[in-house]
Amino acid sequence: MTYSLEVSLLCGFFLLVIVVCGFIYRNKNRLKNDIEAKTEMFKKAFDISEDAVLLLDKKMKIVYANPVALKLLSLDSEYQGKPLSPMPSVKIKKEWIPFDQFLKHLPAKSEEKMHRFPQSSLHSGEDQHYSIPVNLYIDCAETKDESACCTIVLIHDLRNEYERHKVAYRHKLTDLPNHLQAKEDLHKIFSKIHLHNKKLALMLIELDNFSQIRSMIGYDQSESVLIGFAQYLDNLSRSSSFYVYHTYSNHFLICIPVVETADEVVYLGRQIQQRLSSLYKVNNVRFHLTATIGISIYPDSGSTLVLLDRAYKALAKAQKNGLGQIAVYEQNEYEKKYDEIEIYNALSEAIDKKEFEVYYQPIIRSKGKEVVGAEALVRWTHKQYGMIPPDVFIPLLEKSGFIIELGKFVLSEVLKQQKRWEMFKFKPIEVSINMSILEIESEGFVENVSRQLTEHQVSPELLRFEITEGVAMKNEVEADQQLQALKKLGVSIALDDFGTGYTSFGYLKKFPAEVLKIDKSLVEYITSNEEEQRIVKAMIDLGHNLGMKIVVEGIETNEMAEMMTEFGADYLQGYYFSKPIPAYEFQEMIRL
Ligand code: C2E
Ligand code: CA
Ligand code: CA
Repeated sequence: MTYSLEVSLLCGFFLLVIVVCGFIYRNKNRLKNDIEAKTEMFKKAFDISEDAVLLLDKKMKIVYANPVALKLLSLDSEYQGKPLSPMPSVKIKKEWIPFDQFLKHLPAKSEEKMHRFPQSSLHSGEDQHYSIPVNLYIDCAETKDESACCTIVLIHDLRNEYERHKVAYRHKLTDLPNHLQAKEDLHKIFSKIHLHNKKLALMLIELDNFSQIRSMIGYDQSESVLIGFAQYLDNLSRSSSFYVYHTYSNHFLICIPVVETADEVVYLGRQIQQRLSSLYKVNNVRFHLTATIGISIYPDSGSTLVLLDRAYKALAKAQKNGLGQIAVYEQNEYEKKYDEIEIYNALSEAIDKKEFEVYYQPIIRSKGKEVVGAEALVRWTHKQYGMIPPDVFIPLLEKSGFIIELGKFVLSEVLKQQKRWEMFKFKPIEVSINMSILEIESEGFVENVSRQLTEHQVSPELLRFEITEGVAMKNEVEADQQLQALKKLGVSIALDDFGTGYTSFGYLKKFPAEVLKIDKSLVEYITSNEEEQRIVKAMIDLGHNLGMKIVVEGIETNEMAEMMTEFGADYLQGYYFSKPIPAYEFQEMIRL
């Protein structure tokens, strides 16, 4: 009885085990089916993606490649489990690197962010001479089973966009860059204008009486006149280094980025007019064509913002004088001077109108010449006067009190920029901001810095404030309090323009700065003046003895840089390395 009970209990138990196992097995199978179905779904989604998608395992073997990836990288359709062949390469910092090496040496990424390499170049592997512009995104899919981890590569081919851009930015008839391209190029050219002290010229050329010519020689013939003229200008632009645009039907624009005098621009205009008069023949008879030309020159004709308008004004003036004339826009003396009252009034609206922009000048480590920081220097582009130097408007801002607003603006721009650089993995650098006397005296200055640091989530070590020797000494007590409070936030302090005032050793000893910036006036003739050499050397030693790092400003030649390095300066700043430049240009120096 007991035996049969035991047997039936055991049978019951086995039955239960079988049922449970069956249940688990069924669920597991369902789960497996589920995963397979989902994988299949994702694969399908990737299969129709317009971007190339590639999954590589730990050993760089292909797990999956969608059809676009197969085509773009010239891969064999039997790719699974095989390494990339041919091996593509990517261009990083002007160097071509095989793709597997590139993936192996990627910097460690923060958890949730993928690696992004916008506007990179790729060789498909097959044709090493043909580089493809791409946006590259790399991430990894981690699983509990480490061996199953995958690198996900997404490649967005930019060729179609470039092609579309090319079509939109060229004149349909003559294939010269059109008005859209002119607008883009001028913006870039103007932003670099301060990098040299040369002039820049715009020349507008209008073929005269074009509709009359059309009615005389017909539509097709008049089109070939335009094509012939465009070709002539295009050839000329190559030999004379200027930019040429076909803006509208019978209008052409020339931009000459570097000129010495207006005369040379007028001479070029005459040369073009002469060629035009013999460009076109009908039945072997020369058809006399003329063009009227308007010229504007920066800075003689006004700021970059109004330069194109002024070329049109010059064109209108030339047309008044008859066909085939040339006129240069001349600004009268009254217009040229800064009208202090006008500037003063305009300043109050300048921030809202977004006329201020923060430029960055690199600060270089003297040993190794690596960019380790930057000074933020504000620029103001006034509608009428163009770029106004800070030496003109900062004192006016101080008079009106607007400097506090500007200071807040500069700080928030710098912090935003720092955050962008952090997000896009640029090299972290310390950015210095100039502090004015009113800011030191104003209440709530330190609180604003603290609030903005928190708001923008930027580490205080990436921020430094510069206070000039003069300001610090005039407001010793307030300056000391504010600087101590700033230091508590974790930002550092530099004593600016050192050597222009009369700071006593006693004062300097207790001054809470980590950095001493030796003023540019002290190094102007340093390479030939032994007295200057002795003074600057003593200053560097003094700063070092007080535990400060030294920046020497105003480095304009290699000789100066070498001498200051030899004297022990820690950092160098000056036109020799770079003038202050817009953020997008500066960031090329800190691209990793
Ligand atoms: P700073 O603080 O002494 O700035 C350095 C100045 O020297 C800058 O003039 C810079 O362009 C110029 N510089 C740099 N390297 C060289 C060089 O190799 N040779 C020569 N000759 N000059 C060089 P910038 O930008 O015209 O600024 C002038 C002053 O305006 C600054 O003098 C600073 O006191 C003030 N400033 C500029 N931006 C701001 C700002 O955002 N806030 C405040 N409060 N003041 C500012
Ligand atoms: Ca400064
Ligand atoms: Ca300075």
